[in-house]
Amino acid sequence: MKPVFANSATVTVPERLVLKNGRRDKVTLGVRFGVWVHPKHGPILIDTGYGPEVTSGRRSLPLTLYAAAIRPKLADQPETILAQMGYGPDDVHAVFITHFHADHISGLRRFPKARLLAAGWPELKAQSTWQRVRHGIFTELLPDDFTQRLTPLEVMDRDIFGDGSLITLDLPGHAVGHTGLIWPEHKLVYAADAQWLTKAVVEDRPPSGAARLVYHNEAEMRASMAKLRELNDHEIVFCHDPID
Ligand SMILES: [Zn+2]
Repeated sequence: MKPVFANSATVTVPERLVLKNGRRDKVTLGVRFGVWVHPKHGPILIDTGYGPEVTSGRRSLPLTLYAAAIRPKLADQPETILAQMGYGPDDVHAVFITHFHADHISGLRRFPKARLLAAGWPELKAQSTWQRVRHGIFTELLPDDFTQRLTPLEVMDRDIFGDGSLITLDLPGHAVGHTGLIWPEHKLVYAADAQWLTKAVVEDRPPSGAARLVYHNEAEMRASMAKLRELNDHEIVFCHDPID
């Protein structure tokens, strides 16, 4: 099957925040996650989107302030999409984490049996809490047994299941360890946050304002955009393209 991408939440921002020379008008961005069923291993999640862990309940002050600034409106959670396919949270074999920003990891605690696949953790672990928070990374969202369940992509083959069904795609620049995925059979790429909008990649219009503060490495981000433009015979899905 082809992976399914759904919206965990929406976030409304002025277009020019996410597109160079964009309009002042607001656009409603999606916050996607993916569900894919591997023929042998069962359901795999690609990120978990924003969940109630970010928007309500007991949280640190920095996370509370972050949620108040971004004001995500929650929509479909991964459990809803999994249930439609006949699966429960405990059936999830693995969660592929494209990167550690809060809008990608906030539901991880709800999938206690899943292996966690991600790049960049050794570097993030070495940072101070403040360095991480400044980049939208809140380790309080990680499960308590995160390090036991983590398989670092750094030690894995790019062919995740060894059968050619799912291949990792390095897309550095946006955040520490930022990694996308390719499903060769479907000619489909999940580019996560390589940019916010397809338009910004196709027209080479990465935002030049406040959004630049988010980039971990701007030169690498631009190289990742160029890499995606070369994959123009593929369908490319981004996490935050506007919802229709
Ligand atoms: Zn991000």
